[in-house]
Amino acid sequence: MTSAADIEAIRDSVRRLCNGFPGEYWRKHDRDRTYPAEFVTALTEAGYLAALIPEEFGGAGMPMIAAAAIMEEIQHAGCNGAACHAQMYTMGTVLRHGSPAQKQKYLPEIAAGTLRLQAFGVSEPTSGTDTTSLKTFAKKEGDHYIVNGQKIWTSRAEYSDLMLLLARTTPRDQAAKKTEGISVFLVDMRKVVGNGLTIRPIRTMMNHSTTEVFFDDMKIPADSLVGEEGKGFRYILSGMNAERILIASECIGDARWFIDKAVAYAKDRKVFNRPIGQNQGVQFPIAKAYAATEAAALMVRRAAELYDSGADCGAEANMAKMLAAEASWMAADMCVQTHGGFGFAEEFDVERKFREARLYQVAPISTNLILSYLAEHVLGLPRSY
Ligand SMILES: Cc1cc2nc3c(=O)[nH]c(=O)nc-3n(C[C@H](O)[C@H](O)[C@H](O)COP(=O)(O)OP(=O)(O)OC[C@H]3O[C@@H](n4cnc5c(N)ncnc54)[C@H](O)[C@@H]3O)c2cc1C
Repeated sequence: MTSAADIEAIRDSVRRLCNGFPGEYWRKHDRDRTYPAEFVTALTEAGYLAALIPEEFGGAGMPMIAAAAIMEEIQHAGCNGAACHAQMYTMGTVLRHGSPAQKQKYLPEIAAGTLRLQAFGVSEPTSGTDTTSLKTFAKKEGDHYIVNGQKIWTSRAEYSDLMLLLARTTPRDQAAKKTEGISVFLVDMRKVVGNGLTIRPIRTMMNHSTTEVFFDDMKIPADSLVGEEGKGFRYILSGMNAERILIASECIGDARWFIDKAVAYAKDRKVFNRPIGQNQGVQFPIAKAYAATEAAALMVRRAAELYDSGADCGAEANMAKMLAAEASWMAADMCVQTHGGFGFAEEFDVERKFREARLYQVAPISTNLILSYLAEHVLGLPRSY
């Protein structure tokens, strides 16, 4: 059992760890587009990235509600969990669908941080959100698979040892259903980089260490397959609720950072001989962002509680992610406006966090796709695609 007091203690220790990584640390990495390795090491050593790995495999065995609190506090402190959030949840596919041998081989090392599972290769340049149209193909040849194709937006591939890869093993037109014939592989990238696997960084508007990866006759052992061949799409879907809840928690943390920053500035900044925060035109957008954040936080909490109870939380996890991403973006925009010109100055960190916060209405799933899921799967409206 993790009590409310335990969660408060976790929040407090995450806050203390994050104090060691102030704005100038993030500004420098952002300016140079370098990986915040020291921060990731500190989180790993404190055991936070192993929060969801059961104790029998060397993890902390925490519930989702505690993992969500960790991610929220990281963002609330002005840090950026995007550098390593995947280490927390990508292992879920191995935990739920891997063989006993795969779990024993990988999970203890992932829990210890000696093995990094930070890369998740789903998106492809031509299929976009339509995942079942992905083209990367893994062909079985004896005791190996030969992989050909390309992924895009494979974040942290340069800073990961393993990649969870989604590839077709049966061509789409030969599969019984479009969701069949897709398989999941746990690829040891250390063995194939430069030998069938090429990683090319993509520069983006924020510091995200994302890449495109190319598979050119990449040979991987047959035991890289996770679970049953052809069932991978279902395995990936089953891990998405955890990802949605954790990303939503990050968005709540971002929103709280923007609100704190705006409140402090609005009290301090004097124009026309009074604090700008005395004007309702400045107060109301802050209050509105606060209300949106608190409402979204309730949905995140509800989704995490359902997840921990083992109940289906697909609708709540999706709503939490959508509402939290919208609240953080509302707060980001408000924070820039409250700061006036200083909202654009690097040294205030607002512009950096503004750029970082924008991502979550697009990735890991865009708002439109969440709305379509709610409309069609929850409300029973006709399918649009
Ligand atoms: C910085 C960054 C990091 C990422 N990291 C990873 C990662 O580590 N691993 C990974 O696999 N992927 C990753 N992604 C990819 C991300 O998940 C996708 O960008 C996202 O799912 C959207 O897919 P897309 O870019 O192909 O957009 P598209 O599918 O091309 O969609 C473009 C726009 O059209 C809208 N749209 C498309 N179809 C419909 C429809 N039927 N109805 C209504 N609207 C629709 C979408 O909502 C979107 O706004 C990352 C992306 C970014 C930018």
